[in-house]
Amino acid sequence: MRALVKTTAGPGLELRDVPEPEMGIDDVRIAVRKTGICGTDLHIASWDPWAARTIKPPLVVGHEFVGEVLEVGANVRDLAPGDTVSGEGHVVCGRCRHCRAGRWHLCANTVGLGVNRDGAFAEQVVLPVTNVWHHWPRIDDDVAAIFDPFGNAVHTALSFPVLGEDVLVVGAGPIGLMAAAVARHAGARYVVVSEPNAFRRELATKMGATHVVDPRATSLKDFQGELHMVEGFDVVLEMSGNPTALRDALANMAHGGGMAILGIPTEEIQIDVSQVVFNQLTVRGIYGREMYETWYKMSVMLTSGLDIRPVITHRFSYRDHEAAFDAARSGDSGKVIMDWRD
Ligand code: NAD
Ligand code: ZN
Repeated sequence: MRALVKTTAGPGLELRDVPEPEMGIDDVRIAVRKTGICGTDLHIASWDPWAARTIKPPLVVGHEFVGEVLEVGANVRDLAPGDTVSGEGHVVCGRCRHCRAGRWHLCANTVGLGVNRDGAFAEQVVLPVTNVWHHWPRIDDDVAAIFDPFGNAVHTALSFPVLGEDVLVVGAGPIGLMAAAVARHAGARYVVVSEPNAFRRELATKMGATHVVDPRATSLKDFQGELHMVEGFDVVLEMSGNPTALRDALANMAHGGGMAILGIPTEEIQIDVSQVVFNQLTVRGIYGREMYETWYKMSVMLTSGLDIRPVITHRFSYRDHEAAFDAARSGDSGKVIMDWRD
């Protein structure tokens, strides 16, 4: 089968013919239709220090996908060939304290699809049945391809109640953009998106942000004044990984507010803990999605009026993977989709 492979320790990815993945009795073999490019894939392609520490080549990369079931293992009862599915990219151990308590998203032994095991940028991918999500009818195929990052957005956006609250989304990458749409759908009053890139600010407005701000031009304090906000943001969704942005957001929160941090910093971030103490803030780290409550909520919101399709700005054949990665890397893009059918 054709697959996009990190062949050696160093920059680049190669489109290669590789053997079809082997499967066991609890596994599902899936024919991949479409995939989404994630920041993680860009890190692996460019071979940054994180990738050099984490990735053991050769590795088929990619974890955001939609496809159809080709074959199921002997133990699999509830899926059949032809079913449209996506995969939860975190494969958990099933044996640790949290897994056994049903809190799979807290598993400390998580194995990442396309990171620690062969991934989905290929004509086929194999996953344990417990990681396979059977899509509900009428879910758009392109949207189904990005359920994984959409799940990051939903898990983060719903980690504090947003109904009637003023929400600040820091960073309008694909996940921040989807989180803005979710917060608005879930009843937030203001959804302010802070983002230096003009293309992404415009996209944020299309996704349902009530206001966008360029943090280089206007301070959050001044912007709050323009909105006649009294105390600060009730909920902050940190989706930039940027130290200055995080500190700035922290300083602009209402007493008793909550900050959910999804953005992965590339360096240590110093914060003024007294702001957390005296303002009685809750700061919560978010990794991945909740299995499978987030997947359920994603499906419910999509079938009750939430439209995240504007976040998809580019579509390519897998043969044009270099152009697809360039588009994702450019910053002037939302989500970039690759089609794996010939
Ligand atoms: P992205 O890199 O496309 O988006 C980050 C955005 O932040 C960019 O648009 C950038 O212009 C913006 N930004 C930079 N400086 C800023 C500033 N000072 N103020 C406001 N915005 C600023 O990433 P993404 O794919 O949307 O993912 C968002 C973040 O979440 C990334 O840090 C990513 O690594 C991380 N992530 C975390 C998880 C998890 O499970 N925790 C999963 C996926 C991605
Ligand atoms: Zn576990």
